[in-house]
Amino acid sequence: MGKLLAVGSMAFDAIETPFGKTDKILGGAAPYIGLAASQFDIDIAVVSVVGEDFPEKYLSMLRDRNIDLSAVEIVKGGKTFFWSGKYHNDLNSRDTIETQLNVLGDFTPVVPEHYKDADVVMLGNLHPNTQLSVIEQMEKKPKLIVLDTMNFWMNNTWDELMTVISRVDIITINDEEARQLTNEYSLVKAAQKIRQMGPEYIVIKKGEHGALLFHEDNVFFAPALPLEEVFDPTGAGDTFAGAFSGYIAATRDVSFHNMKNAVIYGSNLASFCVEKFGTERMQKLSKDEIQKRLLQFKELTQFEIELT
Ligand code: AMP
Repeated sequence: MGKLLAVGSMAFDAIETPFGKTDKILGGAAPYIGLAASQFDIDIAVVSVVGEDFPEKYLSMLRDRNIDLSAVEIVKGGKTFFWSGKYHNDLNSRDTIETQLNVLGDFTPVVPEHYKDADVVMLGNLHPNTQLSVIEQMEKKPKLIVLDTMNFWMNNTWDELMTVISRVDIITINDEEARQLTNEYSLVKAAQKIRQMGPEYIVIKKGEHGALLFHEDNVFFAPALPLEEVFDPTGAGDTFAGAFSGYIAATRDVSFHNMKNAVIYGSNLASFCVEKFGTERMQKLSKDEIQKRLLQFKELTQFEIELT
């Protein structure tokens, strides 16, 4: 069975969208990545940190999905990372209201022994040095190292970010971040510049407008499913990354052709994530629902045209 190692934040989130508001709910990149990746037949371990205030019910919900949490550190007397954000009316942009790093501030990830040979490593959005430390603990070169990052690290830890970017195979970022990273408006040019930084593959996510996968001279586009109900986009990027890496770990095939399917799975699972607040929808998602939506993705994009 394929093995996936994921590192990412575990958090309390307080979210406000035009449709409502939540108090502290389960958030952070790692739960979204784990919930999405656990839809595939793979072994998954999460490396993260929480405070003593983190409810056991969240941990057991993740364990029930066969996610190995032995490398989630629980800091005695510590407080869990807290993030709050407010979405604008179009749901495509948001403002961070508050970030309390708490135990994430001095987090030292420790990769479990039995995951030092993982097939796929998913580096969730964290301090680039934390991400690098995970790469350095691997004993066998993974088939694929996937990196997610955000503007915060571009603004504050540029040199460290460049070091970790040079060590990964694929980066997943959104369009705004790709432009900030490269100073290029054209996403094609941005992808070319990012390739020069190290990654062979680049995924640029465009929210409700889908995602682009670049490799050498090839480009593939996966649409986002036009949805009737979008409640909360939080975690859509992490869900995309979790499904993408889970699919690659399950198939152990890192060809461009297979990555196209991984991008479709990423878009597919992300389309569920946004239908409810936080991780609620992902906790109730069935394999059957995923299969049905795959068919919708096919129908959305398939056409037959005579080439003359
Ligand atoms: P996404 O919507 O995919 O960008 O991810 C949202 C999740 O990222 C939320 O659940 C937050 O708890 C988490 N998050 C926000 N800021 C940070 C940060 N600086 N470091 C780690 N995780 C964060």
